[in-house]
Amino acid sequence: MRAMVTGGAGFIGSALVRRLVADGANVLNFDKLTYAGNLSTIAACAGRDNYAFIQGDVAESAEMARAFDDFRPDVVFHLAAESHVDRSIDGPGAFIRANILGTYTLLEVALAYWQQGREPTFRVILISTDEVYGSLPETGAFSEETAYAPNSPYSASKAAADHLGRAWCQTFGLPVINTNCSNNYGPFQHPEKLIPTIIRSALAGKPIPIYGAGSNIRDWIYVDDHVQGLLDVARAGRLGERYNLGGRAEITNLELANRLCAAIDILRPKADGTSYADQIAFVADRPGHDQRYAVDSTKAETELTWRRRETLETGLERTVQWYLEHQEWLAPDTGQSRLGLRRTGQ
Ligand code: NAD
Repeated sequence: MRAMVTGGAGFIGSALVRRLVADGANVLNFDKLTYAGNLSTIAACAGRDNYAFIQGDVAESAEMARAFDDFRPDVVFHLAAESHVDRSIDGPGAFIRANILGTYTLLEVALAYWQQGREPTFRVILISTDEVYGSLPETGAFSEETAYAPNSPYSASKAAADHLGRAWCQTFGLPVINTNCSNNYGPFQHPEKLIPTIIRSALAGKPIPIYGAGSNIRDWIYVDDHVQGLLDVARAGRLGERYNLGGRAEITNLELANRLCAAIDILRPKADGTSYADQIAFVADRPGHDQRYAVDSTKAETELTWRRRETLETGLERTVQWYLEHQEWLAPDTGQSRLGLRRTGQ
C-alpha cells in the first residue's frame, strides 16, 4: 500500500500513520502543521525507510499536485481539517478554508491524478464526523441514511466536504468513500480537547470545566479502533458509499468526567484522600450545543467485519494511564479566555 495521509501530525491522523508505518506500508504524511499539528506524535516514524513527511497545505493545489506526482499514492486518507467546534464558533473562516476549500482542492488534484490512470485501484477515503447528522433526541442512532443537519460551523464545513466527495464520485467517477465517526479519545489528543482538559485540570488542582449541566451525550471510540475502521474501509469498502464508525459507548459529559476522575483517583490518589471529582465546575454552555449523538455502525460491522477492541472502560483506563505517563503532552493551562463564546456575547 502507498498511503498518503493528510493531517497525519494531528490526533487521529498520527495514530493512522503510526499504524500504517508499523504495518510496513509506504506512507506520505502531508500536514500543514497548524497549531493542532505536532511532529512529536509521529516521532516513532521519523527516519523509517517507508515514511516521508511534507509540510504542506491541502488548500494549495500546486503543493498537493507535487505530492501526488512524486509519491503516487494508491490510497489517500484525508484527515487534514480544522477540528475544534469551539474554535469554529470564534473564527469560522479557517474552517471554511481548510475543510471545504481544502477538500475541494484535494478532490480536484486527486481527479487529475486518477485520470492519468496510473493507479487503477486508487481510492480516496474522506474522514468525517457524526456531527454532520445534527442532534438526536433521547432514542435512536444515526445511520448512513440519516439526513445531514449540521449545527456548528465545524460540522457544517465537514458536511460540505462530505457532499463534495459524494459529488466528485457521482459526477466525475472519482473513487471516493466517506466515513463518519463518533468522538475519538486516546493518546496525543490536542490538550484543548475535552478529555485532556479534564485530566490536566484534575492534576493541576484546578476547576474541571463542564459545559452547561453536563447532560450532553456523546458516543466515544478509542482512536485505534477508528484507525482499524479506516483500514477496513480502504480494504473492502464499496466506492461511493458512506460508513459510520461508532463506539457503541454513549455517556454524558458529566459521567465521563466522573469516570476519568475515578480512574485518576486510583492511579494518582490525592494526598488528602478526596476525589478529583470534587473539582468539577459547571460553566456556560456551548452555543448551539448538540444534545445527543449516537452512531449505528452495523453497516461497517457486517460488510467489513470491523470490530472494536476497546470498551469505554478499557479505553479510558489506557488513556488516563498514557496521559499520566506523558504529562508533558498536557500543556500547561495557557490561561487563554474561554473558546467558543466570543461572537455570541456570553
Ligand atoms: P486534529 O485537529 O488533531 O488534527 C488536524 C491535523 O490537520 C493537524 O495536524 C493540522 O496541522 C492538520 N491541518 C489542518 N489544516 C490543514 C491544511 N490546510 N493542510 C494540511 N494539514 C492541515 O484533528 P483530529 O481530531 O485528528 O481529526 C482528524 C480528522 O478526523 C478531521 O477531519 C476531523 O474532522 C475528523 N474527525 C475527528 C473526530 C474526533 O473526535 N477528533 C471524530 C470524527 C471525525
